[in-house]
Amino acid sequence: MKRLFSEVYLHLIAGVIALGILGISGHTLWIDRQNTWQEAERASRNVLTTIAHDLEGKLDLLDLSLRGAIEGLRYLGSQQLPPDLQYRMLFDRTATASFMGTLLVVDQNGNLIADAGPMIASRALNVADREYFIAHKENNHIGLYISRPFGSRTRNGDPSIGISRKISDSAGHFAGVVMGSMPLSTINQLFDNLSLGQHGAINLFRNDGILLTRYPYDASQVDQDLGGSPNVMRLLAQKSGTFASVSPIDGVRRIISFERLERYPLVLTVALSVEEIFSAWQRKALVLSLATLVLCCAVVGLTMLFQRELKRRTRAETKLRRIARTDDLTGLPNRRAFRETFEREWRHAIRSGSALSLIYIDADYFKNFNDHYGHGRGDETLSAIASTLESNIRRPRDVAARYGGEEFAIVLPETDLAGAQLIAENIRQSIVALNIVHEGSPYRVVTASIGIASVHPSRGSERGTLLEAADRALYGAKAAGRNCVHHLEDDVDPQQKRLPHAAA
Ligand code: GH3
Ligand code: MG
Ligand code: MG
Repeated sequence: MKRLFSEVYLHLIAGVIALGILGISGHTLWIDRQNTWQEAERASRNVLTTIAHDLEGKLDLLDLSLRGAIEGLRYLGSQQLPPDLQYRMLFDRTATASFMGTLLVVDQNGNLIADAGPMIASRALNVADREYFIAHKENNHIGLYISRPFGSRTRNGDPSIGISRKISDSAGHFAGVVMGSMPLSTINQLFDNLSLGQHGAINLFRNDGILLTRYPYDASQVDQDLGGSPNVMRLLAQKSGTFASVSPIDGVRRIISFERLERYPLVLTVALSVEEIFSAWQRKALVLSLATLVLCCAVVGLTMLFQRELKRRTRAETKLRRIARTDDLTGLPNRRAFRETFEREWRHAIRSGSALSLIYIDADYFKNFNDHYGHGRGDETLSAIASTLESNIRRPRDVAARYGGEEFAIVLPETDLAGAQLIAENIRQSIVALNIVHEGSPYRVVTASIGIASVHPSRGSERGTLLEAADRALYGAKAAGRNCVHHLEDDVDPQQKRLPHAAA
């Protein structure tokens, strides 16, 4: 029972330690993962803010040029000025900034009136078919309009987007469009030199889901209408945010941060590959998991070693205890074990009010036997007697023990005098039946004398009385001529009560 408890405690402690190790490393990894995610989000936001700021600055300048041109047109009215003066009235210096494409002024039919590029509007150009022209013509209330990407007609098809405003005449009617184009390469330059990893991506959408440009640049994807894709719908619906999503194009899982530009109908997104974000974390997780596994294995291993040692010790102790209670020669319990059994059964008999009997057996003329046949033969005979005793007791609680040299004792719980007499007589006969020749005995074979005592002990009873009674009964049996069974009353008339025996 004690052993079982210590084993339970051992397992409990080992379990707590293993769980503790697991918990700590799990928690550490979890926190680290959260931090990595937050760091990635923060990085995306920074990139977004930077690009948005740059882009808005450029658009602001472009819009200023558009407004300047519209104002210039109003001032010019119907005046006929030389072309270079006209040019100065319409276009400021920013209109020729390096990031800009062209700045065109067209009339209500889409025919080119003025062009900031080559100084003089000498070319015949019509933009009536362009999306931005149609949009302004059909809807009087559009302010600034950002077009889908198109191939510039004035710059050899260079992919660009157009930023345009409507020109109204004095009556407020549609009188044409001022359009500044911005090459996609200008925007793409903003995306370069940002460390987004191998699978990072930046997208610039118009607020209806048209993809204006992207990094890495892919001409086949630009100008696609992605307004129907769930992810794009999601980012068009909010001002800014972050979410994770698997790309339908390359199957890469990314964290996507997005932000709508404040003054323009544009949405920017920055996407970072989840795998790349967590690659360092994953390496760390692997190392930590392995270390945790090793530690847990060590705990389990040590526990098992400890448990085995505990078991070994317990077994050794049990064996020692058994040896300390066993007689070497006969294998019977020894005098000490007999005492313990007797004490236990005595208390039990008091509690249960049952009978308790005691049998003492002493080999007859055994000194003679040794003298005749030697100590070795004497030992063999004692072992034979021991086996005889054991084969004559049947109940599990009956105990036969070697009490001394050639003396044996038997405790018989819940057995009265009559029962004990029966067993004793059987034993006496069995010893005779061993038929071990003993020239030094009048019976010519090895015999034993047996004393019995039986009692119903109560609380006041002295246990020594029973031991003494059995001893005296044995003495009586010796006095009566040996090879017989006696109990106390036998002393009164030993001859009469003497039990029959085979060798007599
Ligand atoms: P009695 O009939 O009165 O019992 O005579 P006894 O000779 O048996 O009695 P006693 O007590 O005088 O002698 C006991 C002898 O038992 C002494 C010893 O030679 C023998 N004996 C005691 N222990 C052992 C033992 O372990 N082995 C052997 N072989 N003999 C033993
Ligand atoms: Mg003796
Ligand atoms: Mg003897």
